[in-house]
Amino acid sequence: MLSTLLNAARSTARGAMNSESASTPLQAAFEAALQRELQQRALVGAAPGRDELMRAAAAASRELLARRWAQTQAADARRGDDAGCRRVHYLSMEFLMGRALSNALAALRLDGVLQAQLQAQGQDLSGVLEREPDAALGNGGLGRLAACFLDSFAELGLPSFGYGLRYQYGMFAQGIQDGRQVESPDDWLRLGNPWELPRPELRYRVGFGGRVVVDATGSRQWVPAEVLVAQAYDFIVPAHHSERVSTLRQWHAQAAETIDFQAFCRGDYSHAASRQVAADALNWVLYPDDSTEAGRELRLKQEAFLVSASLQDLIERHLREGRPLQTLGTLNAIHLNDTHPALAPAELMRLLLDEHGLPWDEAWTLTRQAVSYTNHTLMPEALETWPVRMFEALLPRHLEIIYEINHRFLQELRQRFPGDDGLTARVSLIDEGGTNGGNYGGERRVRMAALSIVASHRVNGVAALHSDLMVQTIFADYARIFPDRFHNVTNGVTPRRWLQQANPALSAVIDGQIGTAWRQDLSQLQQLSAHAKDAGLIASFRTVKRANKQRLADRIRRELGLTVSVDSLFDVQIKRIHEYKRQLLNLLHVIARYQAIVANPDGVDGRGWVPRTVVIAGKAASAYHMAKLIIQLAHDIGRVVNSDPRVGDRLKLVFLPNYGVSLAETIIPAADLSEQISTAGTEASGTGNMKFALNGALTIGTWDGANIEMAEHMGVDQMFVFGLRTEAVAGLKSLGYDPRLYVEQNRQLQAVIRAIADGDFCGGDTARYKPLVDKLLGADPYLLMADFTDYVATQLKVDAVYRDPQAWGEQTVRNVAGMGWFSSDRTIAEYVERVWSPASLKA
Ligand SMILES: *Cc1c(COP(=O)(O)O)cnc(C)c1O
Repeated sequence: MLSTLLNAARSTARGAMNSESASTPLQAAFEAALQRELQQRALVGAAPGRDELMRAAAAASRELLARRWAQTQAADARRGDDAGCRRVHYLSMEFLMGRALSNALAALRLDGVLQAQLQAQGQDLSGVLEREPDAALGNGGLGRLAACFLDSFAELGLPSFGYGLRYQYGMFAQGIQDGRQVESPDDWLRLGNPWELPRPELRYRVGFGGRVVVDATGSRQWVPAEVLVAQAYDFIVPAHHSERVSTLRQWHAQAAETIDFQAFCRGDYSHAASRQVAADALNWVLYPDDSTEAGRELRLKQEAFLVSASLQDLIERHLREGRPLQTLGTLNAIHLNDTHPALAPAELMRLLLDEHGLPWDEAWTLTRQAVSYTNHTLMPEALETWPVRMFEALLPRHLEIIYEINHRFLQELRQRFPGDDGLTARVSLIDEGGTNGGNYGGERRVRMAALSIVASHRVNGVAALHSDLMVQTIFADYARIFPDRFHNVTNGVTPRRWLQQANPALSAVIDGQIGTAWRQDLSQLQQLSAHAKDAGLIASFRTVKRANKQRLADRIRRELGLTVSVDSLFDVQIKRIHEYKRQLLNLLHVIARYQAIVANPDGVDGRGWVPRTVVIAGKAASAYHMAKLIIQLAHDIGRVVNSDPRVGDRLKLVFLPNYGVSLAETIIPAADLSEQISTAGTEASGTGNMKFALNGALTIGTWDGANIEMAEHMGVDQMFVFGLRTEAVAGLKSLGYDPRLYVEQNRQLQAVIRAIADGDFCGGDTARYKPLVDKLLGADPYLLMADFTDYVATQLKVDAVYRDPQAWGEQTVRNVAGMGWFSSDRTIAEYVERVWSPASLKA
């Protein structure tokens, strides 16, 4: 079932690696570069501490990667027009890269070399690696997916560019004070970024505002009021099994003219600098996905800036390689990671019409060929729209083009579906300000998802259920209009970062059992299932898990001063804090268990309790009050439970602050149980679920997102599935869901809700969690009350299996064995087949 692309990448990789493993020139080059870096620092009297060693190693690695980058680009420029895959341009407002050094060293096979060098300096490798700040230019799964894709682009040798913004401040740093989240800026560039390659020669002008003028020939030209310059910074992502690399090109905004010299001479310095300050605002922050009104206009400017710079760069490269504009769409793919870059079709049309003089029909054909779009959420309130008024002010020419696209689209529809005015109103690119699309403000708005669908040749969801629901619910009208446009491509994660690097000990055990080929071909993991009952293998898995748990326990003690037992079941939920992900349901279970332990210290059946350590981590968007309240509740419960002498090791609740890629890399290998408990139909895919199972955690989860496909691949009885399914959720809601009926029927649930409402965890403060309790007993939109009973019962089944180490161990092996399909290499191979191949244009 492997695609030809995967196989081709693997066979060239084997050749390359064989020659490389014998090559000391690479090591010698690295050692020389490292020495040079250290000497330069010694010249200015800096003793090489861990920070300097980290930066020197990064700079030395970057030098080697830059050579591979040049080779890769040269090879891609030479490729024939019939190469079988278009060059992919992956546009994303978020890339959640995490740290780069350990990945680069592993890809270059230089970890051993650096380790030896560091020993000579009296330092250890892990201490140096930990000095690298996370590149946290993303909120969550969508941004991490983009990062995993860059890894797979390189690994599969796909001609590609990732395009993003070079935010000065990434995702905020989360601190906890008195149990409450406090945000502070994540100043990740403070000490410079040793990885990025500034590309001062790559500069493009991006306009905003102004007006559209019509010249004597009738052609339209945009005269912007403000012009910024986008300057490129490249970040290189290496393949692990070939010398190919992929590129993340990030744009930095500068003023087109620097200071206002007249103002400067007058002594008016703030005016003199105002253009630069205005440009710099674009570079400041990554917006949290649940952002409020503040900064909306700046966000739209960021999106337009990303799109315009990236498309100018693409066209420039295409022409520089000597290819005619007419092949732009058959040789290039422009992929929209959600609707954030949805201005791309409008900007591409503008460039082709106004700058390159193409007629409308030709420009539209090229645009439709190039563009494709991935949807990441079904929640109607999360679908991006922008006021027409904001477009008029900032992007007047784009608005004209969007109107024209819409006019032609609706005209065609009226011919195909005469008399169906409801349809045209529903699918129009413009929400005319009725009650349609969740807009009750009466303001006309541009619908970015509509623009993305109409201008794409392919639209995909990110897991089978999500893709089905997408065409049945939010995009049902479009699916009727464009029946061949919609596809599914289930997400995946890179096994290099999420198994090889995050869990070297488990990787070694797997190597010993089935060899090392799984690193390139994760489907090899299936071979483990033949050994699932092997007591030796199970013991090795358990030894590794215990060591990883010990490492996490040490960190919990260091950071929080709390002692947890490595003999307890580590029950983990780490992800953005959001009501649909139901961290609150997890907390309700913790309270229920706490009350049960106090009432029956020897267990309900006298067999004692399976000790548990519940670990939660995640950030709440700064304006998301309910999510912040959930974080506070977790801390309040933790304080009470963790210090109750009647409980002891039977139950602990730990909240680890500042969730990010690096924290995930330490927590996930230590998890026994993975909580994937979203309300069915709300989690588009999830990728955290995949990382846990790959590291030998069992999943307790709802029939939602990619949980479903994971269960199918590992065997449904290998997962602890609970709760209402999508159809039942929809049925219940349509009948009029009343959460109080569920509370009335369950005394345990009553006691849990009463404890929160009475302020049992916060010194009797009954006001603190009133909004939360009111919501649970009122609308309870995510059906926590309906799923509580089954969730708690299923947690008891988890305990029962955990009591039997052989059964638990066997299930663990089967989980890992079933995860081979969830590699981002497979995902990218499917994108190539279904979305990015030239063949997908003919279908
Ligand atoms: C994988 C990952 C996510 C996505 O997690 P979900 O559980 O799928 O929401 C978010 N943030 C980070 C840092 C990740 O590594």
